[in-house]
Amino acid sequence: MGRIGLQLRATLENITRLRAEGEDFRWYLKLKCGNCGEVSEKWQYLRLMDSAPLKGGRGSATMVQKCKLCSRENSIDILSQTIKPYNAEDSEKFKTIVEFECRGLEPVDFQPQLEQTKLEDHGQFQAVQSTPQGSELKDSSGPVCNDSSLVHGHALCHLTPCYF
Ligand SMILES: [Zn+2]
Repeated sequence: MGRIGLQLRATLENITRLRAEGEDFRWYLKLKCGNCGEVSEKWQYLRLMDSAPLKGGRGSATMVQKCKLCSRENSIDILSQTIKPYNAEDSEKFKTIVEFECRGLEPVDFQPQLEQTKLEDHGQFQAVQSTPQGSELKDSSGPVCNDSSLVHGHALCHLTPCYF
């Protein structure tokens, strides 16, 4: 199954950078079992800080999960070195912001949890409220955000296999 990359396209205005901040940043995904094709109904999140042991002493993964349907033990890893900020010069273009190593669990959908997404603007961190569908960045007045007009336009995400 290999690697799957998450590509983001957003319109940034007056924003320097959009990035996943910290070990506890939650990547909300819908995961598919590579064995039987079952897709999780609920959004699940992966965090860098999480680690679960693989059966048989084969190390660990960010998430290890037994498929409810076929009972296959699947796992997935966040590849920490692939996490990249989305910068002003990336605006309007698709950019891979994270890659996942998939061993049975394959992300098929992504929901940006924007209240966690830190916007860095001239050294100040800005928080943006989440949107219900996650596919649209709306003007917002998050708890740390002083300027509600910082975010305009749309953010689009898609998941794509990476070939190396
Ligand atoms: Zn399955």
